[in-house]
Amino acid sequence: MKESFRRDPRNEWIARNRLHPLYSALQTQEASWIGPSGLVRKNPHVSGFIGPNGLKRIDRSGVQQGGGSQRSGTKAAVQLPLRIIEQPSFYIVVVPDMVNGRLSSHDKDLLGLANTLAGDEGAVVAVVFQAHKEGGFDTAGVDRLLHLQGEAFADYSPEQRVTALCALDTQLNPAHWLVPDSRTGGGELGRRLAAKLGERPATRVWQVADGQCIGRAGAGQQDMARTAPRLILAAAECADPVSDTRHEVRAIELNETLFHRVGRLDNLGAVAVDPALTPMAEAEFILSGGNGVKDWELFHQAAETLGATEGASRVAVDDGFMPRARQVGATGTWVTAQVYLAVGISGAVQHLQGIATCDKVVAINQDPACDMVKRADLAVIGDSAAILQALIERVREHRQGGMHDAA
Ligand SMILES: Cc1cc2nc3c(=O)[nH]c(=O)nc-3n(C[C@H](O)[C@H](O)[C@H](O)COP(=O)(O)OP(=O)(O)OC[C@H]3O[C@@H](n4cnc5c(N)ncnc54)[C@H](O)[C@@H]3O)c2cc1C
Repeated sequence: MKESFRRDPRNEWIARNRLHPLYSALQTQEASWIGPSGLVRKNPHVSGFIGPNGLKRIDRSGVQQGGGSQRSGTKAAVQLPLRIIEQPSFYIVVVPDMVNGRLSSHDKDLLGLANTLAGDEGAVVAVVFQAHKEGGFDTAGVDRLLHLQGEAFADYSPEQRVTALCALDTQLNPAHWLVPDSRTGGGELGRRLAAKLGERPATRVWQVADGQCIGRAGAGQQDMARTAPRLILAAAECADPVSDTRHEVRAIELNETLFHRVGRLDNLGAVAVDPALTPMAEAEFILSGGNGVKDWELFHQAAETLGATEGASRVAVDDGFMPRARQVGATGTWVTAQVYLAVGISGAVQHLQGIATCDKVVAINQDPACDMVKRADLAVIGDSAAILQALIERVREHRQGGMHDAA
């Protein structure tokens, strides 16, 4: 016999009434579950746990996210639907910038646009030069990955890269080429590719729809609409990144017979630049100061000695110790440094947002329980001035030792 479903209007009423003493007992204890679309749905009301003082605590490590051990681990793993394109009717090729070896948000926007253009029939190909650290090509929307490595593509090698892209053009005849119109490589590479292919690209494109694209023109004062050409140099936020599918990331090879080596450019190696002039978003090593920095002269001296680019929390900027352009965080610059050294910064959520993709975070702070220490890979607990002073001395000693060794 079919089991009948009985409603309990009183319980339903209590479950809607937050002030009722039995309210919590009637709440669902599921913290997250996979919704019908394959996306993870979260119940924010069951996050965290009640601490000994009766206050609700949220464990940022994620172990207790959801309020109980039964909800952690395998249940929280997101399994987005996998998209497999066996026989694509056409290809959309994206050449991401891969700043610091990872997909930037600009790259992800382009992959989002590529997926829109690919629809159900096409496949998105990403071309990546040299070693990378990216582990999320699948969720970023890459169906095929062409990974080109070797001395020929090392450092600044636009001619060689364009030659490889032209070979790929012959091999796949893509419906569209998408290149980030950026200063971090894509802008130049895309224009060189256009010249080599003899095609007029659309530049600074911020929208592509219905076969038309709109790009900025006239020093950013005007928009120019035109039929979307094959080669599109797109601006950041040209589309939403992929968020609801997983892709195959099937490796493909470049047909070597289509590719020839060029050697007109001699790479003379990297040139030392003043870290103080490096834009924050591109800096690899940032020394960032907050309200816990009491000796700013010493802070600048430490940055110079370490060869680090300076950053700051909003409080340090508001207090006039650092220029606004140096602010890191939600309302400042989002940085992607390999090493982020935070001195006297508490780790407010707005600040942590700005350093979310930094590789290694080191905290210098007096408070071992602050959020920056929790976020850090390495923490030094103590007075910022004493630690900066010791750091400067260590670096100097090390360099002098190095010079003796060399002698
Ligand atoms: C809408 C909005 C947007 C915001 N955007 C940003 C943003 O983009 N970026 C940002 O940074 N903030 C932002 N904030 C501000 C943010 O909420 C915090 O107020 C700010 O980040 C705190 O800066 P702080 O960590 O330097 O200062 P504090 O919170 O005062 O922390 C100082 C830290 O220094 C430590 N300390 C004190 N003395 C010493 C010492 N002698 N030696 C070592 N450590 C010491 C303390 O233990 C503490 O952890 C925003 C706020 C709002 C409301």
